Amino acid sequence: MVQSAILGFPRIGPNRELKKITESYWKGKASVEELFNVGREIRSANWKLQKDSGVDIIPSNDFSFYDQVLDLSLLFNVIPERYAKYNLAPIDTLFAMGRGLQRKATETEKAVDVTALEMVKWFDSNYHYVRPTFSHSTEFKLNGQKPVDEFLEAKELGIQTRPVLLGPVSYLFLGKADKDSLDLEPLSLLEKLLPVYVEILSKLKAAGATEVQLDEPILVLDLPQQAQEAIRKAYQFFGSKAASLPQITLATYFGTVVPNLDSLKNLPVAALHFDFVRAPAQFDDVLSIVGENQKLSVGVVDGRNIWKNDFAKSSALVNKAIEKLGADRVVVSSSSSLLHTPVDLENETKLNPEIKDWFSFATQKVKEVVIIAKNVSGEDVSAELKANAQSVSSRASSKITNDEAVQKRVASIDEKMAKRAVPFEERLAEQSKRFNLPLFPTTTIGSFPQTKDIRINRNKFAKGTITAEEYEKFINSEIEAVIRFQEEIGLDVLVHGEPERNDMVQYFGEQINGYTFTTNGWVQSYGSRYVRPPIIVGDLSRPKPMSVKESVYAQSITTKPVKGMLTGPVTCLRWSFPRDDVDQKTQALQLALALRDEVNDLESAGIRIIQVDEPAIREGLPLRAGAERSAYLKWAAEAFRVATSGVANDTQIHSHFCYSDLDPNHIKALDADVVSIEFSKKDDPNYIAEFKNYPNHIGLGLFDIHSPRVPSKDEFISKIQTILKSYPAEKFWVNPDCGLKTRDWEETKLSLTHMVEAAKYFREQY
Ligand code: GLN
Ligand code: ZN
Repeated sequence: MVQSAILGFPRIGPNRELKKITESYWKGKASVEELFNVGREIRSANWKLQKDSGVDIIPSNDFSFYDQVLDLSLLFNVIPERYAKYNLAPIDTLFAMGRGLQRKATETEKAVDVTALEMVKWFDSNYHYVRPTFSHSTEFKLNGQKPVDEFLEAKELGIQTRPVLLGPVSYLFLGKADKDSLDLEPLSLLEKLLPVYVEILSKLKAAGATEVQLDEPILVLDLPQQAQEAIRKAYQFFGSKAASLPQITLATYFGTVVPNLDSLKNLPVAALHFDFVRAPAQFDDVLSIVGENQKLSVGVVDGRNIWKNDFAKSSALVNKAIEKLGADRVVVSSSSSLLHTPVDLENETKLNPEIKDWFSFATQKVKEVVIIAKNVSGEDVSAELKANAQSVSSRASSKITNDEAVQKRVASIDEKMAKRAVPFEERLAEQSKRFNLPLFPTTTIGSFPQTKDIRINRNKFAKGTITAEEYEKFINSEIEAVIRFQEEIGLDVLVHGEPERNDMVQYFGEQINGYTFTTNGWVQSYGSRYVRPPIIVGDLSRPKPMSVKESVYAQSITTKPVKGMLTGPVTCLRWSFPRDDVDQKTQALQLALALRDEVNDLESAGIRIIQVDEPAIREGLPLRAGAERSAYLKWAAEAFRVATSGVANDTQIHSHFCYSDLDPNHIKALDADVVSIEFSKKDDPNYIAEFKNYPNHIGLGLFDIHSPRVPSKDEFISKIQTILKSYPAEKFWVNPDCGLKTRDWEETKLSLTHMVEAAKYFREQY
């Protein structure tokens, strides 16, 4: 009998239970017991669901109150002194590292003021992990035993689980040196870290775990020799302790391991897992290195997208593995953790039934894995196979997927459409004349706090309890308040604040043909922030203007320039679930054409500064260097330029990126007049130097919008001073890291006021 396995299940709860309780806990409205109880309920429901669906290998320790990588930092005592010194309860240390903490002193507790650790994207997904941050004083030791506790919790429910942990090499490799230890190479800590892994793994074994899953997703990256050797070293070390450890499944996902195949050969692990959804071409190569006593875990059910599995295709692939290895050495599995998919399709009652039939969310995927395992084991699942084949073919031939007019327009895109009329220097001269901005111009990235009031009114409008007119009046009053506030504190380029937007992609997706939406398809992005990615089901087009009304209203009530605000084609694509039947370039160009019309409409309506956000452009970068990556960079930049090049020379195009290391050359290819990038958590002075030769203008994000912490004016001044050492004043925009939608008004007011004061201070110096 071929076994079925799941690598990880979403932990947010079917109705975002985790978000709700975590945020109440942060506000002091829920107790730590209530928080822990909800965690326990979610875990137990997830385990039971998988058990009842017939999964053989069910994960534990895939739950987290914030991020599974941060959990490991807490577990291994990788807690920088600036957090440790407060002696907070472990859960509060976890949250402080994840999101920063600023707390006034009370009679019993001292004041706390600490920024968050750096947060970065998890490979090419829209999940973010908190970066392990090591220093010379890092002392690895077990600080708690979360994996054991959760294993025992499942065991008490009568469910045997396979605990999952990020493996030691990925854990180190994905981390960084703290600012006091910049010469430290995280991988050099491997020898010190391994015994602590052995300790926790032995405890798992003692608790009854027979198997563990160690994830080494870095094996799909271009790895330096040192990291490849580290893999060998680590797993040979575990091999030498095999008697006291559970059996190890070494899991990789999100790409091919072929270039690193040597490091996987003859490793003393019980099983290897590969992602054959993202990298089916690696099949023969990886099969050739599966050792005589090793199992192969075949990842065939997509952990990153929502399309129904094609049972015939998946079963054929698994059968190929069975032919070579035998049924008892093959495991059918999800390609990666299901963390990146929504919890349950059954919760979707409003989807068009024709479209709904093409989808599968985490709960359904669990069943898919089981059905494929049964099928290849010779059990009768003919009814399921038949229904599946019907869904697959109905999608391929559906009218919803094809729009000939769109396909023709994409085919007609030429070079001229993807290029501004004159080079940047000439545009700059015309723009300076038009806008006459001061040195160190100040602006924000777009959104202002999304208050409860905004959400309530949006819901009322969605439910029809207020009319479109009433809603518009409400939105306009929000816009007006945001405009007045910006005028009051002296910002130079204003925004309308985006109160009408539920989400920067969904908002546009809802107005673009070819998209569909879920009501409850939430996926964790970071901490308690979840997104509900729209789904691209067919060819994309814009029937009418999407954002003009709000921007025009904002401009009509102020004499300062208002910046129009759009989401770029690559971000619309990356933050949606894309089609898997058409290539990504085509989908991006379809979106680019829709946005080009929008940009041009904004310009005609008098909006002469337009920001087209592309925060997702970096994460879309294929994980390995080579042809695929170069092609991506080319079409991603082309899509951006198709969207933004239809404007006059004196219309200023802005763009914005966040949370990722960006190469100035990639940014250059977009040819935006001004870009704003994440900078507040970058401590490396070389990072600024890299942008010195970037020709256009840049706003380096000066404060972290993920944290409620308010930087002082002096903090802004010293930050700007540092940047000015290697970056010219005349190209310098002053702005936060990202949009302010998740912040409260109080913090926002203070932070922005201090930021503007600092800009004014420098204007006087120059
Ligand atoms: N304009 C968007 C905002 O301010 C940008 C958000 C983002 O980059 N993630 O909310
Ligand atoms: Zn951003």
